[in-house]
Amino acid sequence: MFETVIGLEVHVQLNTDTKIFCSCPTSFGDEENKNVCPVCLGLPGALPVLNENAVKKSISFGTAINATVNQKSVFNRKNYFYPDLPKGYQISQFEVPIVENGEINIDFEDGSVKRIGVTRAHLEEDAGKNVHEEGHSNVDLNRAGTPLLEIVSEPELRSSDEAVAYLKKLHAIIRYLNIGDANMQEGSFRCDANVSIRPKGDEKLYTRVEIKNLNSFKFIQKAIDYEVQRQIEAWEDGVYEQEVVQETRLFNSDTGITRSMRGKEDSAEYRYFPDPDLLPVIIPDEMMSEYSKIPELPDEKKERFVSEFGIKEYDASVLTSSVELAKYYEDMLDNGADAKLSVTWLTTELFGRVDGGVENSPVDAKTLASLVCRIKDGTISGKAGKEVLGYLVDNQISVDDAIEKLGLKQISDDGAILKLIDEIIASNPDKVAEYKGGKEKLFGFFVGQVMKASKGSANPAKVNELLKSRIG
Ligand SMILES: [Zn+2]
Repeated sequence: MFETVIGLEVHVQLNTDTKIFCSCPTSFGDEENKNVCPVCLGLPGALPVLNENAVKKSISFGTAINATVNQKSVFNRKNYFYPDLPKGYQISQFEVPIVENGEINIDFEDGSVKRIGVTRAHLEEDAGKNVHEEGHSNVDLNRAGTPLLEIVSEPELRSSDEAVAYLKKLHAIIRYLNIGDANMQEGSFRCDANVSIRPKGDEKLYTRVEIKNLNSFKFIQKAIDYEVQRQIEAWEDGVYEQEVVQETRLFNSDTGITRSMRGKEDSAEYRYFPDPDLLPVIIPDEMMSEYSKIPELPDEKKERFVSEFGIKEYDASVLTSSVELAKYYEDMLDNGADAKLSVTWLTTELFGRVDGGVENSPVDAKTLASLVCRIKDGTISGKAGKEVLGYLVDNQISVDDAIEKLGLKQISDDGAILKLIDEIIASNPDKVAEYKGGKEKLFGFFVGQVMKASKGSANPAKVNELLKSRIG
């Protein structure tokens, strides 16, 4: 039996207007090499100046994950050669990062929580991009110098499910804090996974393989699962030493397999040393206290939803998994919708009909709230509610107009229902006698007949209540 050991390194692009050491814009999708200057081109004599906003956002992040924010941190040069790195080194942090010793809680479906340690988060500049074409490659340096926060977890994740849960929580924290847009397609939230296995019970860490640049939760899960399986098979076939070496591998999303890209360098090979062009970063007390004031985060919001609205832990963790979803739910309640019913109508019914979260929903929170209110007050049945919701997804119309148009209004009026009940009783005298003689399960028959006579529109709770009053 094997245990999986996973540690994650996530590169989050901070949403500053300008790059980390110069005033070039960080906008995405511009014409190649438009947003460059002598600093981010690495021209001789150009000097970097640190972007204060990158530091402020790091303080908020460190506070959010209960970490130590170092009031003094140091920028180092990480030396390596690659065409998209114009200076021949990357400015990063090494011995003294800005954030250390944090934690992120991940949630499981049974409502339990696991704490994952965050070793460190350091500031660094992004590299440019190599664009490969037929027979040659181009270099685009628009991205060179974009501020990144690299967030490194402890190797405490034990499955691809845990890895994905950790990433989703981290993603949510970034969005709640609004320190980055965390857009995975555009590369502003990128993940490298360090994966190894060991016999269960073994404390030692075995050779880890790094899988680079995973940019969707689905691919991360698949890449880890593939890699774990590869390592277990190598172990069982007695070729672990030969097949599993310290290296960087790439995941191919078309074939679903990882392949070797290059041997992984040890940090010594990067010849880190403090950047002589940059002073140590000293954060003043006032800046520390100002940027450690942060908004309500997913974990706190989750606890509040549980205690204030009485919903289940896991439902609360789903609802708080994105800042937009949490707001949508709260807007529903502000519009008078029942807290528990809203969970189902939002997470099961609406999400069953709409892809891409509430951001893409054609039905807004106020409209869904009014649907939930009409179900709660008995105007329509839950079953009719599903039909109404389907209609609302396709049509811009109010809930009441949709109910009217679809003819789904429930009959809750006592007089109308009693009239139907009396007709059913009158036309089934033998059944009534049997029921009164003790055949109690016939009650269901009467309910069914009344519902049928109303063409399904009678309020079932009312039918039950009034039937009892008539036949006991
Ligand atoms: Zn620049």
